[in-house]
Amino acid sequence: MKLGGPAQYFLTPRSRDELVRVVKYCHQHKIAARILGGGSNLLVRDEGVSGAVIQLTNPAFSEVTVTGTSVTAGAGALLSHVLSVAVKAELAGLENLAGIPGTVGGALHGNAGGRNGDIGQYVHKATILTVDGIVHERPAEELSFAYRQSSLDELVILEAEFLLQKDDPDEITQRLRKIWIMKKASQPLSSQSAGCIFKNPRGLSAGSLIDQAGLKGTRIGKAEISDRHANFIVTEEGASSADVLKLVDLIRSKIADKYGVDLQPEINIW
Ligand SMILES: Cc1cc2nc3c(=O)[nH]c(=O)nc-3n(C[C@H](O)[C@H](O)[C@H](O)COP(=O)(O)OP(=O)(O)OC[C@H]3O[C@@H](n4cnc5c(N)ncnc54)[C@H](O)[C@@H]3O)c2cc1C
Repeated sequence: MKLGGPAQYFLTPRSRDELVRVVKYCHQHKIAARILGGGSNLLVRDEGVSGAVIQLTNPAFSEVTVTGTSVTAGAGALLSHVLSVAVKAELAGLENLAGIPGTVGGALHGNAGGRNGDIGQYVHKATILTVDGIVHERPAEELSFAYRQSSLDELVILEAEFLLQKDDPDEITQRLRKIWIMKKASQPLSSQSAGCIFKNPRGLSAGSLIDQAGLKGTRIGKAEISDRHANFIVTEEGASSADVLKLVDLIRSKIADKYGVDLQPEINIW
């Protein structure tokens, strides 16, 4: 959303060794550490973030390699880039995630996906770094993924290997285009947003509930419930995080009053 205050410490380590040193230092000195991916599922409060925010923007964290039918990607790689590498290698699966912004790490953390599938179903193994600076490998059998939820909740996801299937490149590209077109038609992709604000309650659509409650177009300050997709809050220049948070509270209380449903945020709020 490009909103919110600064981080107390902002770090972009240049190598895995440097990252391990930073994480160990934070742990030893009791400095809270967080990992920032692409920031596409995140709302940072206006007062900013205390402690360390670490972003894996260095190329050391975004390598993508193909071996047979598997693709290994660093957590800092953009998901869109990994998709295009897979398609070029004639490997199918990840095209189902077309149009989801952000990094591989962010996608794994929240098991990003949509009606065509979630990233978790393609994971063969993942490499993580714990809060005390130890690197571990986690095979798929040790991992669990559910709707916008993953057991990969250690401090840092470093990389993952995805197991895909050979397919006809024209068919993969066609599927990718179709998914991308449907996404563009239903979501306000040209405005600043953080994607869906709320998770869909079991068997229900958060967007439909918000729409039925007549909340589309409701504004607070420079933030607005999108006219295009009621589960998106879009912001204009000059918006504050407080505007967005007030809208989030307003939606939650209206939906609780009207339908008795307690909407849970999908976005991360720092
Ligand atoms: C227009 C738009 C459309 C979207 N459509 C979809 C959609 O269809 N489906 C969907 O699921 N999501 C969607 N999203 C939400 C978002 O794109 C995904 O959640 C994305 O996977 C977040 O990745 P990120 O790198 O931006 O993560 P961030 O927003 O930076 O971080 C999200 C969380 O992941 C954690 N994290 C990030 N990287 C790491 C790492 N390396 N190790 C450990 N933790 C990490 C962060 O600490 C934070 O808790 C959409 C967002 C927008 C703006």
